[in-house]
Amino acid sequence: MKDKHLTIALAGNPNSGKTTVFNAITGARQHVGNYPGVTVEKKTGSTTHGDVRLDVVDLPGTYSLTAYSIEEVVSRNFLLDEQPDVVIDIVDSSNLERNLYLATQLMELGVPLLLAFNMSDVAKNRGYNIDEKKLSELLGVPIVQTIGHKGKGIAELLDAAMAVSQDPQATSRQRYPNYGHEIEPHLQQLANLLEEKCGIRQRSRWFAIKLLENDAETIKRLGQACPEHIEELTLEAERIRHHIESICGDAAEIILADRRYGFISGACTEAVTQSVEVRHERSDRIDAVMTNRYLGLPIFALLMFLVFQLTFSVGNPVVDAFDGWKGDLAGAVGGLWGESGADSVLRSLLVDGIIEGVGAVLVFTPLIMLLFLAIAFLEDSGYMARAAFVIDRLMHKIGLHGKSFIPMLIGFGCTVPGIMATRTLETRRDRITTILVLPLMSCGARLPIYVLILGAFFPERVFKVLGIYNVTNHALWLFLIYMIGIALAIICAKIFRGTLLKGEATPFVMELPPYRMPTLKGLTIHMWERTWLYIKKAGTIILAIVVVLWALAYWPKLGDEKHAVFEQQRAIVQADAHADKEQIADRLEEIDNAEHEAKLEHSAIGRVGKTIAPVFRPCGFDWKISTATIGAFAAKEVFVGQMGVIYSVGEEADEESEPLREKLAAKYTPLIGFCIMLFSLISMPCMVTVAVTVREAGWRWAMLQVGYLTVLAWVLTTIVYQIGSRLV
Ligand code: GDP
Ligand code: MG
Repeated sequence: MKDKHLTIALAGNPNSGKTTVFNAITGARQHVGNYPGVTVEKKTGSTTHGDVRLDVVDLPGTYSLTAYSIEEVVSRNFLLDEQPDVVIDIVDSSNLERNLYLATQLMELGVPLLLAFNMSDVAKNRGYNIDEKKLSELLGVPIVQTIGHKGKGIAELLDAAMAVSQDPQATSRQRYPNYGHEIEPHLQQLANLLEEKCGIRQRSRWFAIKLLENDAETIKRLGQACPEHIEELTLEAERIRHHIESICGDAAEIILADRRYGFISGACTEAVTQSVEVRHERSDRIDAVMTNRYLGLPIFALLMFLVFQLTFSVGNPVVDAFDGWKGDLAGAVGGLWGESGADSVLRSLLVDGIIEGVGAVLVFTPLIMLLFLAIAFLEDSGYMARAAFVIDRLMHKIGLHGKSFIPMLIGFGCTVPGIMATRTLETRRDRITTILVLPLMSCGARLPIYVLILGAFFPERVFKVLGIYNVTNHALWLFLIYMIGIALAIICAKIFRGTLLKGEATPFVMELPPYRMPTLKGLTIHMWERTWLYIKKAGTIILAIVVVLWALAYWPKLGDEKHAVFEQQRAIVQADAHADKEQIADRLEEIDNAEHEAKLEHSAIGRVGKTIAPVFRPCGFDWKISTATIGAFAAKEVFVGQMGVIYSVGEEADEESEPLREKLAAKYTPLIGFCIMLFSLISMPCMVTVAVTVREAGWRWAMLQVGYLTVLAWVLTTIVYQIGSRLV
């Protein structure tokens, strides 16, 4: 029979009991020497376990795997060059969070890892209650409890080491910290460069991380492996480091270390009771409140509400001003044609189409900016991670992991980056479920619809809460809409997880990186990136769609004979000797409205609208709202633009036409307004979302997404309208 033979390396922090465990494994068979070229002691020994010979190496004690000390360099090079069959990290479990830092680095390095939770007697005495099974699931690494100086757990440790060495999935099951959406794409880019230019297939992510940390040893190593590209690589890394530093406000190494501690902190908060963190006491104290079992959810709800409150109280006056300027601009441009303007096609295109359509979308830019600013603040400060942590318990009940909630929160800004963010989820089931419900998280593009409707139908009221704070009913309405979205997302996810996407929820570490004060630059960049997308969209896609819609609403024109009928009616009214001035004006306005209506109904969009209107009648929508809801498929903002166009094409060219809000208020009821908001919240996602879903999940899931959301929107809106119209 062939001799079986394994190399085991013992790693660990100084004083974690490494040498003690080493002695317990190898007994007297030890050899003490030096690592080549340095004065670091190298201790090796051997033993047999069953019929397997074990060669054990006691690596120097280190807190980390950077290249700051000679011990770290020696340990790291040994792991990289000698490729031991199993690495046992001896963890002082009475000092867990600090000791796990090395473990996360070993996981990141991708060595076949096993954790010995040594000093378990001390941990117990200090009152720590460690759920090893859970922690092991979360980290994807086996854990064995040991008491080194008593030899307890050593046999189990060796059994586990044998199992790890025979498990081909041992390294791929390991989890490692996610460095967040600001850093991950850059890591990916560096890793790709390493793979393409230097042919480094193994550990490319690890090398990329080290490059970002400006690790001298790694640069030396890569310089030998890939001399012709090392300069390009270090320059690129340098550039990324600067970028990260300016956005996050700290050096890249610090941010990366923070994320690793966040990973550990998240894992320990879940699996250890009475865990005391060593490093980020301030964050821990904040988290004692923020992630509290009872306070966590109410605090999350309160913060969400404050976001809307801020968006509204600061943004609405600015939107009103923008709206006024838009009206002035329309008046000025329309005035260029003078009296004869009513018949000019170009005038109608410019004023009714572009200014009223694109302008209706653009006036909401201040609100969008504020919303994105608030989201950027919650993200950059580290609160988003806490929100996900708090929701985690709720999410587990529906078979999803709390981590799914981070893409969902990003979806409040825009669904598309939310879908991209689901890439951090590990199982396809989790990803697909999250993608399917993501459009229910109301995105920024829907905000203009809500604000238009709220402004039109729900007079703004301000009241004091506890006598100190002014709250507007508009913020409350918005809060309600967003909460309906979250609730529906949770319910739908539960249904999907119970039917099409059945399966166990996978354990997953929720990272809790320390809180940090966002930098002004980071906030500005994050806010502006997204706001600019909104403006760009208004100036391109929406402009194009609006022009098409305008044409559909402009042609075919009402025939001359029809026009003559209205003129005749006007003449009769004006000639009426019995009526006073005011009555005449009223009746003339009625005729104007009737003519406007007739023109629209005669146009292409009117004809299409009339054809599809019956489908939407149960929801309380007339043909105008119906066409606008369909137009919103192109981009949600189109709803607002389209209403703007429909309500201005064919109007008499007078200077003081009322704002869109007033036209809507005159035409529809608040119940219909609410139904529009509800339908816009739920109904099919926009075109771009569908395209991204196709790419990330495939055709069939994208079709399901469009289908179920549209049906759900129709059914719920119909229920609300039918019940509502009977009550009101
Ligand atoms: P190293 O620096 O990691 O090599 O640590 P050592 O093996 O030298 O151990 C440091 C001290 O911890 C020694 O006094 C050991 O006797 C003690 N020790 C090791 N394992 C345990 C354990 O599981 N429980 C307790 N209470 N003490 C331990
Ligand atoms: Mg030692």
